[in-house]
Amino acid sequence: MSASSITMTGFGVSPGLVCAPLMRMTPPVITDPDESPGNDFGHEVQRVWQALAEVAEQLSAIAASGPGGAILEAGAAMASDPALVQAAARHIGEGVPTAHSLSLAVDGYVSQLEALGGYMAERAADLRDIRNRAVALLLDVPMPGIPRPGLPFILAAEDLSPADTAGLADSEAVGLLTERGGPTSHTAILARSLGLPAVVGCAEAAAVPNGTPVILDGRAGTVEAHPSSERQQQVLQQARSRQQPRTHGPGRTADQHAIALLTNIGTPGDASRAAQADNEGVGLFRTEFLFLDRREPPTIDEQIHAYTQVFTAFKGRAVTVRTLDAGSDKPLPFLRLPPEDNPALGVRGLRTSTIVPGILETQLKALVAAQQRTGVQMKVMAPMVSTAQEAAQFADLARSYGVQTVGIMIEVPSAALLAHDLLHHVDFASIGTNDLAQYTLAADRTAHPLAHLLDPWQPALLTLIAQVCSAAAALGRPAGVCGEAAADPLLAPVLAGLGVSSLSMATPAVAPVRDALAQLTLQECKDLAASALYAGEPHTARTTAQRMSDAFVAVASERQEA
Ligand code: PEP
Ligand code: MG
Repeated sequence: MSASSITMTGFGVSPGLVCAPLMRMTPPVITDPDESPGNDFGHEVQRVWQALAEVAEQLSAIAASGPGGAILEAGAAMASDPALVQAAARHIGEGVPTAHSLSLAVDGYVSQLEALGGYMAERAADLRDIRNRAVALLLDVPMPGIPRPGLPFILAAEDLSPADTAGLADSEAVGLLTERGGPTSHTAILARSLGLPAVVGCAEAAAVPNGTPVILDGRAGTVEAHPSSERQQQVLQQARSRQQPRTHGPGRTADQHAIALLTNIGTPGDASRAAQADNEGVGLFRTEFLFLDRREPPTIDEQIHAYTQVFTAFKGRAVTVRTLDAGSDKPLPFLRLPPEDNPALGVRGLRTSTIVPGILETQLKALVAAQQRTGVQMKVMAPMVSTAQEAAQFADLARSYGVQTVGIMIEVPSAALLAHDLLHHVDFASIGTNDLAQYTLAADRTAHPLAHLLDPWQPALLTLIAQVCSAAAALGRPAGVCGEAAADPLLAPVLAGLGVSSLSMATPAVAPVRDALAQLTLQECKDLAASALYAGEPHTARTTAQRMSDAFVAVASERQEA
Protein backbone atom coordinates (compact mmCIF):
# COMPACT_ATOMS: atom_id res chain seq x y z
CA MET A 1 0.00 0.00 0.00
CA SER A 2 1.50 3.43 -0.91
CA ALA A 3 1.61 6.19 1.73
CA SER A 4 -1.24 8.13 0.15
CA SER A 5 -3.49 5.13 -0.46
CA ILE A 6 -6.85 5.31 1.33
CA THR A 7 -9.50 2.61 1.63
CA MET A 8 -13.18 3.53 1.84
CA THR A 9 -16.13 1.25 2.44
CA GLY A 10 -19.65 1.04 1.10
CA PHE A 11 -21.91 -1.87 0.19
CA GLY A 12 -20.50 -4.41 -2.24
CA VAL A 13 -23.52 -5.17 -4.43
CA SER A 14 -22.03 -6.84 -7.49
CA PRO A 15 -18.89 -8.99 -7.09
CA GLY A 16 -15.62 -8.57 -8.95
CA LEU A 17 -12.28 -6.83 -8.47
CA VAL A 18 -11.30 -4.04 -10.88
CA CYS A 19 -8.62 -1.40 -11.11
CA ALA A 20 -9.13 1.72 -13.26
CA PRO A 21 -9.28 5.50 -13.03
CA LEU A 22 -12.40 6.92 -11.45
CA MET A 23 -14.49 9.12 -13.76
CA ARG A 24 -17.53 11.07 -12.66
CA MET A 25 -20.72 11.51 -14.58
CA THR A 26 -20.22 14.69 -16.62
CA PRO A 27 -22.41 17.47 -15.16
CA PRO A 28 -24.62 19.52 -17.49
CA VAL A 29 -23.42 22.98 -18.57
CA ILE A 30 -25.20 26.04 -17.20
CA THR A 31 -25.73 28.41 -20.14
CA ASP A 32 -24.37 31.95 -19.92
CA PRO A 33 -26.85 34.77 -20.73
CA ASP A 34 -23.89 37.16 -21.30
CA GLU A 35 -22.17 35.09 -23.95
CA SER A 36 -22.02 37.03 -27.25
CA PRO A 37 -25.05 36.19 -29.41
CA GLY A 38 -24.73 34.87 -32.98
CA ASN A 39 -25.40 37.50 -35.64
CA ASP A 40 -27.11 35.38 -38.29
CA PHE A 41 -30.64 34.64 -37.00
CA GLY A 42 -31.42 31.96 -39.61
CA HIS A 43 -28.13 30.14 -39.01
CA GLU A 44 -28.58 30.14 -35.21
CA VAL A 45 -32.15 28.77 -35.46
CA GLN A 46 -30.86 26.11 -37.84
CA ARG A 47 -28.18 25.14 -35.27
CA VAL A 48 -30.85 24.69 -32.58
CA TRP A 49 -32.95 22.60 -34.94
CA GLN A 50 -29.93 20.40 -35.81
CA ALA A 51 -28.91 19.96 -32.16
CA LEU A 52 -32.41 18.85 -31.16
CA ALA A 53 -32.65 16.49 -34.14
CA GLU A 54 -29.32 14.93 -33.16
CA VAL A 55 -30.50 14.50 -29.56
CA ALA A 56 -33.71 12.81 -30.78
CA GLU A 57 -31.60 10.44 -32.85
CA GLN A 58 -29.28 9.67 -29.91
CA LEU A 59 -32.20 8.94 -27.58
CA SER A 60 -33.87 6.63 -30.13
CA ALA A 61 -30.59 4.77 -30.62
CA ILE A 62 -30.09 4.31 -26.85
CA ALA A 63 -33.76 3.30 -26.46
CA ALA A 64 -33.33 0.54 -29.02
CA SER A 65 -30.30 -0.92 -27.27
CA GLY A 66 -30.97 -0.95 -23.56
CA PRO A 67 -33.25 -0.82 -20.54
CA GLY A 68 -35.71 2.07 -20.11
CA GLY A 69 -36.52 2.06 -23.85
CA ALA A 70 -40.08 3.38 -23.59
CA ILE A 71 -39.00 6.33 -21.43
CA LEU A 72 -36.20 7.27 -23.83
CA GLU A 73 -38.41 6.94 -26.91
CA ALA A 74 -40.82 9.40 -25.30
CA GLY A 75 -37.82 11.74 -24.79
CA ALA A 76 -36.89 11.40 -28.46
CA ALA A 77 -40.43 12.43 -29.45
CA MET A 78 -40.20 15.52 -27.22
CA ALA A 79 -36.87 16.56 -28.74
CA SER A 80 -38.43 16.41 -32.22
CA ASP A 81 -41.28 18.78 -31.28
CA PRO A 82 -41.02 21.89 -33.57
CA ALA A 83 -42.58 24.03 -30.81
CA LEU A 84 -39.25 23.85 -28.94
CA VAL A 85 -37.32 25.30 -31.90
CA GLN A 86 -39.96 28.02 -32.33
CA ALA A 87 -39.74 29.00 -28.66
CA ALA A 88 -35.93 29.15 -28.85
CA ALA A 89 -36.15 31.19 -32.09
CA ARG A 90 -38.23 33.83 -30.30
CA HIS A 91 -35.43 34.34 -27.73
CA ILE A 92 -32.73 34.31 -30.44
CA GLY A 93 -34.71 37.03 -32.25
CA GLU A 94 -34.54 39.13 -29.06
CA GLY A 95 -30.73 38.96 -29.13
CA VAL A 96 -30.31 36.23 -26.48
CA PRO A 97 -27.30 33.91 -27.07
CA THR A 98 -28.29 30.69 -28.85
CA ALA A 99 -27.57 28.09 -26.13
CA HIS A 100 -29.22 30.28 -23.49
CA SER A 101 -32.24 30.76 -25.80
CA LEU A 102 -32.72 27.02 -25.88
CA SER A 103 -32.40 26.85 -22.08
CA LEU A 104 -35.06 29.54 -21.68
CA ALA A 105 -37.35 27.77 -24.15
CA VAL A 106 -37.02 24.47 -22.26
CA ASP A 107 -37.45 26.19 -18.88
CA GLY A 108 -40.77 27.62 -20.11
CA TYR A 109 -42.05 24.14 -21.00
CA VAL A 110 -40.65 22.63 -17.79
CA SER A 111 -42.62 25.12 -15.65
CA GLN A 112 -45.80 24.39 -17.63
CA LEU A 113 -45.37 20.62 -17.19
CA GLU A 114 -44.61 20.99 -13.49
CA ALA A 115 -47.72 23.12 -13.01
CA LEU A 116 -49.85 20.36 -14.58
CA GLY A 117 -48.55 17.86 -11.98
CA GLY A 118 -48.79 14.03 -12.03
CA TYR A 119 -47.71 12.28 -15.21
CA MET A 120 -46.89 15.54 -17.00
CA ALA A 121 -44.64 16.78 -14.18
CA GLU A 122 -42.64 13.55 -14.39
CA ARG A 123 -41.80 14.40 -18.03
CA ALA A 124 -40.04 17.60 -16.92
CA ALA A 125 -36.90 15.62 -16.07
CA ASP A 126 -36.86 14.18 -19.61
CA LEU A 127 -37.11 17.66 -21.07
CA ARG A 128 -34.19 18.87 -18.91
CA ASP A 129 -32.14 15.92 -20.16
CA ILE A 130 -32.90 16.97 -23.76
CA ARG A 131 -31.87 20.56 -22.97
CA ASN A 132 -28.59 19.41 -21.39
CA ARG A 133 -27.71 17.26 -24.37
CA ALA A 134 -28.64 19.87 -27.00
CA VAL A 135 -26.77 22.63 -25.15
CA ALA A 136 -23.63 20.43 -25.02
CA LEU A 137 -23.87 20.05 -28.81
CA LEU A 138 -24.40 23.78 -29.37
CA LEU A 139 -21.43 24.71 -27.19
CA ASP A 140 -19.27 21.80 -28.36
CA VAL A 141 -18.54 20.60 -24.79
CA PRO A 142 -18.60 16.98 -23.47
CA MET A 143 -22.05 15.42 -23.43
CA PRO A 144 -23.48 15.25 -19.89
CA GLY A 145 -23.88 11.76 -18.48
CA ILE A 146 -21.56 8.79 -18.85
CA PRO A 147 -18.04 9.90 -19.83
CA ARG A 148 -16.39 8.50 -22.98
CA PRO A 149 -12.68 8.73 -22.11
CA GLY A 150 -11.61 6.06 -24.58
CA LEU A 151 -10.19 3.78 -21.86
CA PRO A 152 -11.63 1.53 -19.16
CA PHE A 153 -12.86 3.50 -16.12
CA ILE A 154 -14.88 3.18 -12.92
CA LEU A 155 -18.01 5.29 -13.17
CA ALA A 156 -18.63 7.39 -10.06
CA ALA A 157 -21.81 9.30 -9.30
CA GLU A 158 -23.89 10.46 -6.39
CA ASP A 159 -26.53 7.95 -7.52
CA LEU A 160 -27.63 6.64 -10.91
CA SER A 161 -31.08 6.89 -12.48
CA PRO A 162 -32.41 4.67 -15.31
CA ALA A 163 -31.83 7.52 -17.81
CA ASP A 164 -28.24 8.02 -16.59
CA THR A 165 -27.42 4.40 -17.07
CA ALA A 166 -29.14 3.72 -20.38
CA GLY A 167 -25.85 3.81 -22.32
CA LEU A 168 -23.82 1.96 -19.72
CA ALA A 169 -23.78 -1.40 -21.46
CA ASP A 170 -21.95 0.11 -24.45
CA SER A 171 -19.54 2.25 -22.46
CA GLU A 172 -16.02 1.43 -21.25
CA ALA A 173 -17.15 1.42 -17.60
CA VAL A 174 -15.67 -1.61 -15.80
CA GLY A 175 -17.15 -0.83 -12.39
CA LEU A 176 -19.68 1.38 -10.61
CA LEU A 177 -19.26 3.45 -7.48
CA THR A 178 -22.03 5.56 -5.96
CA GLU A 179 -22.18 7.75 -2.88
CA ARG A 180 -25.80 6.89 -2.17
CA GLY A 181 -27.96 3.78 -2.65
CA GLY A 182 -28.24 0.43 -0.91
CA PRO A 183 -28.22 -3.30 -1.74
CA THR A 184 -31.59 -3.20 -3.52
CA SER A 185 -31.17 0.20 -5.23
CA HIS A 186 -31.59 0.67 -8.96
CA THR A 187 -27.79 0.90 -9.36
CA ALA A 188 -27.28 -2.41 -7.56
CA ILE A 189 -29.83 -4.25 -9.69
CA LEU A 190 -28.46 -2.76 -12.90
CA ALA A 191 -24.82 -3.53 -11.99
CA ARG A 192 -25.66 -7.17 -11.39
CA SER A 193 -27.61 -7.45 -14.60
CA LEU A 194 -24.61 -6.07 -16.52
CA GLY A 195 -22.11 -8.12 -14.49
CA LEU A 196 -20.25 -4.92 -13.46
CA PRO A 197 -18.50 -4.96 -10.07
CA ALA A 198 -20.17 -2.28 -7.93
CA VAL A 199 -19.98 -0.57 -4.57
CA VAL A 200 -22.87 1.67 -3.51
CA GLY A 201 -23.52 3.87 -0.48
CA CYS A 202 -19.86 4.98 -0.23
CA ALA A 203 -20.26 8.60 0.90
CA GLU A 204 -16.49 9.22 1.09
CA ALA A 205 -16.19 8.66 -2.69
CA ALA A 206 -17.48 12.23 -3.13
CA ALA A 207 -14.03 13.54 -2.16
CA VAL A 208 -12.07 11.46 -4.71
CA PRO A 209 -11.01 13.62 -7.69
CA ASN A 210 -11.71 12.63 -11.29
CA GLY A 211 -8.99 10.48 -12.83
CA THR A 212 -7.76 9.02 -9.49
CA PRO A 213 -6.67 5.37 -9.87
CA VAL A 214 -9.00 3.19 -7.83
CA ILE A 215 -9.31 -0.49 -6.93
CA LEU A 216 -12.93 -1.49 -6.42
CA ASP A 217 -13.86 -4.77 -4.75
CA GLY A 218 -17.54 -5.42 -5.41
CA ARG A 219 -17.67 -8.35 -3.02
CA ALA A 220 -16.00 -6.78 0.02
CA GLY A 221 -17.58 -3.35 -0.63
CA THR A 222 -14.20 -1.59 -0.47
CA VAL A 223 -12.68 1.10 -2.66
CA GLU A 224 -8.97 1.82 -2.52
CA ALA A 225 -7.95 5.22 -3.92
CA HIS A 226 -4.32 5.90 -4.98
CA PRO A 227 -3.14 2.26 -4.66
CA SER A 228 0.59 1.64 -5.15
CA SER A 229 1.63 0.69 -8.67
CA GLU A 230 2.57 -2.85 -7.46
CA ARG A 231 -0.94 -3.27 -6.06
CA GLN A 232 -2.47 -1.99 -9.33
CA GLN A 233 -0.39 -4.47 -11.33
CA GLN A 234 -1.41 -7.30 -9.01
CA VAL A 235 -5.12 -6.55 -9.46
CA LEU A 236 -4.83 -6.09 -13.23
CA GLN A 237 -3.04 -9.45 -13.43
CA GLN A 238 -5.77 -11.09 -11.38
CA ALA A 239 -8.42 -9.58 -13.67
CA ARG A 240 -6.59 -10.82 -16.77
CA SER A 241 -6.38 -14.35 -15.45
CA ARG A 242 -9.98 -14.24 -14.19
CA GLN A 243 -11.17 -17.81 -14.17
CA GLN A 244 -13.75 -19.03 -16.61
CA PRO A 245 -16.72 -20.73 -14.92
CA ARG A 246 -15.62 -24.13 -13.65
CA THR A 247 -19.03 -25.77 -13.88
CA HIS A 248 -21.83 -25.87 -16.44
CA GLY A 249 -25.44 -27.03 -16.71
CA PRO A 250 -28.06 -27.46 -14.00
CA GLY A 251 -27.28 -26.25 -10.48
CA ARG A 252 -26.08 -29.01 -8.15
CA THR A 253 -24.35 -29.28 -4.80
CA ALA A 254 -21.17 -31.38 -4.68
CA ASP A 255 -23.33 -34.42 -3.78
CA GLN A 256 -25.73 -33.80 -6.71
CA HIS A 257 -28.62 -32.22 -4.80
CA ALA A 258 -30.43 -30.09 -7.42
CA ILE A 259 -30.89 -26.33 -6.93
CA ALA A 260 -32.37 -24.90 -10.14
CA LEU A 261 -30.46 -21.85 -11.35
CA LEU A 262 -32.76 -19.37 -13.06
CA THR A 263 -32.54 -15.86 -14.37
CA ASN A 264 -34.42 -12.61 -13.69
CA ILE A 265 -35.54 -10.64 -16.75
CA GLY A 266 -37.41 -7.39 -17.26
CA THR A 267 -37.71 -6.86 -21.03
CA PRO A 268 -37.77 -8.92 -24.26
CA GLY A 269 -34.20 -7.59 -24.80
CA ASP A 270 -33.10 -9.09 -21.47
CA ALA A 271 -34.87 -12.28 -22.48
CA SER A 272 -32.94 -12.74 -25.69
CA ARG A 273 -29.61 -12.15 -23.90
CA ALA A 274 -30.55 -14.41 -20.99
CA ALA A 275 -31.85 -17.14 -23.31
CA GLN A 276 -28.37 -17.56 -24.80
CA ALA A 277 -26.80 -18.05 -21.38
CA ASP A 278 -26.36 -21.24 -19.35
CA ASN A 279 -29.41 -21.28 -17.03
CA GLU A 280 -32.46 -23.44 -16.41
CA GLY A 281 -35.05 -20.83 -17.35
CA VAL A 282 -36.60 -17.67 -15.95
CA GLY A 283 -37.41 -17.49 -12.24
CA LEU A 284 -38.74 -13.93 -12.33
CA PHE A 285 -40.09 -12.18 -15.42
CA ARG A 286 -40.89 -8.64 -14.20
CA THR A 287 -43.69 -7.59 -16.57
CA GLU A 288 -43.75 -3.90 -15.53
CA PHE A 289 -41.70 -2.83 -18.60
CA LEU A 290 -44.83 -3.13 -20.75
CA PHE A 291 -46.79 -0.81 -18.52
CA LEU A 292 -44.16 1.87 -17.86
CA ASP A 293 -44.48 5.41 -19.13
CA ARG A 294 -47.95 4.98 -20.59
CA ARG A 295 -51.14 6.94 -20.45
CA GLU A 296 -53.27 3.87 -21.24
CA PRO A 297 -52.63 0.21 -20.41
CA PRO A 298 -51.14 -1.95 -23.19
CA THR A 299 -53.75 -3.75 -25.29
CA ILE A 300 -54.16 -7.50 -25.05
CA ASP A 301 -52.56 -7.92 -28.49
CA GLU A 302 -49.54 -5.87 -27.49
CA GLN A 303 -49.16 -8.03 -24.40
CA ILE A 304 -49.54 -11.30 -26.30
CA HIS A 305 -46.87 -10.13 -28.73
CA ALA A 306 -44.38 -9.23 -25.95
CA TYR A 307 -44.96 -12.41 -23.93
CA THR A 308 -44.71 -14.54 -27.08
CA GLN A 309 -41.28 -13.04 -27.79
CA VAL A 310 -40.04 -13.95 -24.32
CA PHE A 311 -41.58 -17.43 -24.30
CA THR A 312 -40.17 -18.22 -27.74
CA ALA A 313 -36.68 -17.33 -26.54
CA PHE A 314 -37.04 -19.77 -23.62
CA LYS A 315 -38.82 -22.64 -25.35
CA GLY A 316 -37.83 -25.91 -23.67
CA ARG A 317 -37.17 -24.16 -20.35
CA ALA A 318 -39.59 -22.90 -17.69
CA VAL A 319 -40.60 -19.23 -17.43
CA THR A 320 -42.07 -17.86 -14.21
CA VAL A 321 -44.00 -14.68 -14.91
CA ARG A 322 -44.87 -12.20 -12.21
CA THR A 323 -48.12 -10.35 -12.79
CA LEU A 324 -48.00 -6.57 -12.76
CA ASP A 325 -46.26 -5.21 -9.65
CA ALA A 326 -47.28 -1.54 -9.57
CA GLY A 327 -47.23 1.11 -6.88
CA SER A 328 -44.66 2.40 -4.37
CA ASP A 329 -41.16 2.21 -5.91
CA LYS A 330 -42.75 1.16 -9.25
CA PRO A 331 -45.23 4.00 -9.95
CA LEU A 332 -47.36 3.50 -13.06
CA PRO A 333 -49.09 6.78 -13.92
CA PHE A 334 -51.86 5.28 -16.06
CA LEU A 335 -53.30 3.42 -13.07
CA ARG A 336 -54.16 6.85 -11.62
CA LEU A 337 -53.88 5.52 -8.08
CA PRO A 338 -54.85 8.17 -5.54
CA PRO A 339 -51.85 9.80 -3.77
CA GLU A 340 -50.83 7.98 -0.57
CA ASP A 341 -48.93 9.21 2.48
CA ASN A 342 -47.12 5.91 2.80
CA PRO A 343 -47.00 4.20 -0.62
CA ALA A 344 -44.77 1.26 0.40
CA LEU A 345 -47.57 0.24 2.77
CA GLY A 346 -50.31 1.22 0.36
CA VAL A 347 -52.00 -0.09 -2.75
CA ARG A 348 -49.24 -1.95 -4.58
CA GLY A 349 -48.56 -5.34 -6.16
CA LEU A 350 -51.58 -7.63 -6.21
CA ARG A 351 -53.56 -5.03 -4.24
CA THR A 352 -53.84 -2.74 -7.29
CA SER A 353 -56.02 -5.35 -9.01
CA THR A 354 -58.79 -4.74 -6.51
CA ILE A 355 -59.07 -1.06 -7.28
CA VAL A 356 -58.19 -1.06 -10.99
CA PRO A 357 -60.50 -3.69 -12.46
CA GLY A 358 -59.62 -5.61 -15.60
CA ILE A 359 -55.83 -5.12 -15.66
CA LEU A 360 -54.97 -8.44 -14.02
CA GLU A 361 -57.64 -10.33 -15.96
CA THR A 362 -56.36 -8.99 -19.31
CA GLN A 363 -52.80 -9.85 -18.36
CA LEU A 364 -53.72 -13.43 -17.44
CA LYS A 365 -55.64 -13.83 -20.70
CA ALA A 366 -52.64 -12.54 -22.69
CA LEU A 367 -50.21 -14.80 -20.84
CA VAL A 368 -52.27 -17.91 -21.48
CA ALA A 369 -52.66 -17.00 -25.16
CA ALA A 370 -48.88 -16.56 -25.51
CA GLN A 371 -48.27 -19.80 -23.64
CA GLN A 372 -50.61 -21.67 -25.98
CA ARG A 373 -48.87 -20.21 -29.03
CA THR A 374 -45.41 -21.19 -27.87
CA GLY A 375 -45.95 -24.28 -25.72
CA VAL A 376 -43.51 -22.92 -23.13
CA GLN A 377 -43.66 -24.26 -19.58
CA MET A 378 -45.26 -21.20 -17.95
CA LYS A 379 -45.76 -20.50 -14.27
CA VAL A 380 -47.53 -17.36 -13.07
CA MET A 381 -47.13 -15.75 -9.66
CA ALA A 382 -48.56 -12.69 -7.92
CA PRO A 383 -46.48 -10.06 -6.09
CA MET A 384 -47.16 -8.71 -2.57
CA VAL A 385 -49.57 -11.38 -1.39
CA SER A 386 -50.32 -10.85 2.32
CA THR A 387 -53.03 -13.32 3.34
CA ALA A 388 -54.24 -16.85 2.61
CA GLN A 389 -57.45 -15.36 1.25
CA GLU A 390 -55.52 -13.29 -1.30
CA ALA A 391 -53.52 -16.38 -2.31
CA ALA A 392 -56.72 -18.39 -2.78
CA GLN A 393 -58.42 -15.62 -4.78
CA PHE A 394 -55.42 -15.18 -7.06
CA ALA A 395 -55.10 -18.93 -7.59
CA ASP A 396 -58.82 -19.25 -8.45
CA LEU A 397 -58.66 -16.34 -10.89
CA ALA A 398 -55.46 -17.51 -12.60
CA ARG A 399 -56.74 -21.08 -12.94
CA SER A 400 -60.08 -19.82 -14.31
CA TYR A 401 -58.11 -18.25 -17.19
CA GLY A 402 -56.20 -21.48 -17.84
CA VAL A 403 -52.93 -20.94 -15.93
CA GLN A 404 -51.73 -24.39 -14.93
CA THR A 405 -48.99 -23.61 -12.42
CA VAL A 406 -49.86 -20.82 -10.01
CA GLY A 407 -47.60 -19.34 -7.35
CA ILE A 408 -47.18 -16.45 -4.98
CA MET A 409 -44.29 -14.24 -4.04
CA ILE A 410 -43.46 -14.17 -0.37
CA GLU A 411 -42.50 -10.54 0.22
CA VAL A 412 -44.53 -9.60 3.28
CA PRO A 413 -43.76 -10.99 6.77
CA SER A 414 -47.41 -12.09 7.25
CA ALA A 415 -47.07 -14.31 4.17
CA ALA A 416 -43.83 -15.82 5.49
CA LEU A 417 -45.24 -16.43 8.96
CA LEU A 418 -48.34 -18.14 7.58
CA ALA A 419 -46.63 -19.68 4.56
CA HIS A 420 -48.27 -23.03 5.25
CA ASP A 421 -51.76 -21.53 4.96
CA LEU A 422 -50.95 -19.52 1.84
CA LEU A 423 -49.08 -22.32 0.06
CA HIS A 424 -51.99 -24.63 0.62
CA HIS A 425 -53.78 -22.77 -2.23
CA VAL A 426 -50.96 -22.59 -4.78
CA ASP A 427 -48.31 -24.72 -6.48
CA PHE A 428 -45.13 -22.87 -5.50
CA ALA A 429 -43.62 -19.91 -3.66
CA SER A 430 -40.90 -17.52 -4.68
CA ILE A 431 -39.33 -15.43 -1.92
CA GLY A 432 -38.77 -11.79 -2.88
CA THR A 433 -36.00 -10.99 -0.43
CA ASN A 434 -35.80 -7.31 -1.49
CA ASP A 435 -39.28 -6.51 -0.25
CA LEU A 436 -39.25 -9.13 2.49
CA ALA A 437 -36.17 -7.37 3.97
CA GLN A 438 -37.86 -3.97 3.60
CA TYR A 439 -40.99 -5.05 5.44
CA THR A 440 -39.32 -7.29 8.03
CA LEU A 441 -36.76 -4.70 9.09
CA ALA A 442 -39.19 -1.78 8.57
CA ALA A 443 -36.56 -0.12 6.34
CA ASP A 444 -37.54 1.63 3.11
CA ARG A 445 -35.59 -0.11 0.33
CA THR A 446 -34.91 3.25 -1.34
CA ALA A 447 -33.61 4.97 1.83
CA HIS A 448 -29.84 5.24 1.74
CA PRO A 449 -29.17 5.56 5.51
CA LEU A 450 -31.05 2.30 6.19
CA ALA A 451 -29.08 0.17 3.71
CA HIS A 452 -27.43 -1.89 6.50
CA LEU A 453 -30.89 -3.09 7.61
CA LEU A 454 -31.62 -4.36 4.10
CA ASP A 455 -28.58 -6.65 4.15
CA PRO A 456 -29.79 -10.11 3.02
CA TRP A 457 -27.65 -11.69 5.75
CA GLN A 458 -29.90 -10.18 8.45
CA PRO A 459 -30.80 -13.13 10.71
CA ALA A 460 -34.48 -12.05 10.86
CA LEU A 461 -34.70 -12.36 7.08
CA LEU A 462 -32.91 -15.73 7.06
CA THR A 463 -35.23 -16.97 9.82
CA LEU A 464 -38.30 -16.12 7.74
CA ILE A 465 -36.78 -17.81 4.67
CA ALA A 466 -36.17 -20.94 6.78
CA GLN A 467 -39.77 -20.84 7.95
CA VAL A 468 -41.13 -20.57 4.40
CA CYS A 469 -38.91 -23.47 3.27
CA SER A 470 -40.09 -25.77 6.02
CA ALA A 471 -43.76 -24.92 5.37
CA ALA A 472 -43.20 -25.59 1.65
CA ALA A 473 -41.41 -28.88 2.36
CA ALA A 474 -44.28 -30.04 4.62
CA LEU A 475 -46.69 -29.53 1.71
CA GLY A 476 -44.27 -30.86 -0.91
CA ARG A 477 -44.23 -27.52 -2.75
CA PRO A 478 -41.08 -25.88 -4.14
CA ALA A 479 -39.91 -22.57 -2.65
CA GLY A 480 -37.28 -20.49 -4.46
CA VAL A 481 -35.60 -17.13 -3.92
CA CYS A 482 -35.78 -14.49 -6.67
CA GLY A 483 -34.66 -11.36 -4.77
CA GLU A 484 -31.13 -9.96 -4.97
CA ALA A 485 -30.01 -12.32 -2.17
CA ALA A 486 -29.95 -15.18 -4.70
CA ALA A 487 -27.09 -13.54 -6.62
CA ASP A 488 -24.56 -13.68 -3.76
CA PRO A 489 -22.28 -16.73 -4.28
CA LEU A 490 -21.52 -16.93 -0.56
CA LEU A 491 -25.18 -16.71 0.46
CA ALA A 492 -26.42 -19.16 -2.21
CA PRO A 493 -25.18 -22.28 -0.32
CA VAL A 494 -26.75 -20.86 2.88
CA LEU A 495 -30.09 -20.50 1.07
CA ALA A 496 -29.72 -24.04 -0.29
CA GLY A 497 -29.05 -25.20 3.28
CA LEU A 498 -32.20 -23.42 4.46
CA GLY A 499 -34.13 -25.52 1.93
CA VAL A 500 -34.74 -23.39 -1.17
CA SER A 501 -35.21 -25.37 -4.37
CA SER A 502 -34.26 -22.67 -6.88
CA LEU A 503 -32.33 -19.42 -7.07
CA SER A 504 -33.18 -16.77 -9.64
CA MET A 505 -30.82 -13.88 -10.35
CA ALA A 506 -29.37 -11.55 -12.98
CA THR A 507 -27.83 -13.60 -15.80
CA PRO A 508 -24.13 -12.82 -15.09
CA ALA A 509 -24.52 -14.00 -11.47
CA VAL A 510 -25.54 -17.55 -12.45
CA ALA A 511 -22.05 -18.92 -13.19
CA PRO A 512 -20.40 -17.83 -9.89
CA VAL A 513 -23.40 -19.11 -7.93
CA ARG A 514 -23.26 -22.43 -9.77
CA ASP A 515 -19.54 -22.77 -9.00
CA ALA A 516 -20.12 -21.95 -5.32
CA LEU A 517 -22.87 -24.57 -4.92
CA ALA A 518 -20.85 -27.23 -6.70
CA GLN A 519 -18.09 -26.99 -4.10
CA LEU A 520 -20.20 -27.97 -1.07
CA THR A 521 -22.39 -30.91 -0.11
CA LEU A 522 -25.98 -30.36 0.98
CA GLN A 523 -25.01 -31.18 4.57
CA GLU A 524 -22.25 -28.54 4.43
CA CYS A 525 -24.80 -26.03 3.08
CA LYS A 526 -27.04 -26.91 6.04
CA ASP A 527 -24.13 -26.34 8.45
CA LEU A 528 -23.48 -22.94 6.88
CA ALA A 529 -27.20 -22.10 7.14
CA ALA A 530 -27.33 -23.03 10.83
CA SER A 531 -24.32 -20.87 11.63
CA ALA A 532 -25.74 -17.89 9.64
CA LEU A 533 -29.10 -18.16 11.43
CA TYR A 534 -27.45 -17.98 14.84
CA ALA A 535 -24.62 -15.54 14.02
CA GLY A 536 -26.49 -12.63 15.60
CA GLU A 537 -25.65 -10.04 12.97
CA PRO A 538 -24.93 -9.90 9.22
CA HIS A 539 -21.18 -9.22 9.36
CA THR A 540 -20.49 -12.20 11.62
CA ALA A 541 -22.82 -14.38 9.54
CA ARG A 542 -20.90 -13.50 6.39
CA THR A 543 -17.39 -13.92 7.78
CA THR A 544 -18.29 -17.20 9.50
CA ALA A 545 -19.84 -18.55 6.30
CA GLN A 546 -16.70 -17.59 4.36
CA ARG A 547 -14.40 -19.28 6.90
CA MET A 548 -16.52 -22.43 7.07
CA SER A 549 -16.89 -22.75 3.35
CA ASP A 550 -13.12 -22.24 2.79
CA ALA A 551 -12.47 -24.97 5.36
CA PHE A 552 -14.95 -27.40 3.73
CA VAL A 553 -13.40 -26.81 0.31
CA ALA A 554 -9.87 -27.28 1.67
CA VAL A 555 -10.80 -30.57 3.36
CA ALA A 556 -12.50 -31.84 0.20
CA SER A 557 -9.48 -31.06 -1.98
CA GLU A 558 -7.09 -32.68 0.52
CA ARG A 559 -9.33 -35.75 0.46
CA GLN A 560 -9.25 -35.77 -3.35
CA GLU A 561 -5.47 -35.51 -3.45
CA ALA A 562 -4.97 -38.28 -0.84
C1 PEP B 1 -38.25 -8.69 -4.37
O1 PEP B 1 -38.95 -7.88 -3.76
O2 PEP B 1 -37.33 -9.36 -3.84
C2 PEP B 1 -38.44 -8.89 -5.82
C3 PEP B 1 -37.81 -9.85 -6.47
O3 PEP B 1 -39.27 -8.03 -6.46
P1 PEP B 1 -38.87 -6.52 -6.88
O4 PEP B 1 -37.42 -6.31 -6.58
O5 PEP B 1 -39.22 -6.40 -8.32
O6 PEP B 1 -39.78 -5.73 -5.98
MG1 MG C 1 -40.76 -7.15 -4.69
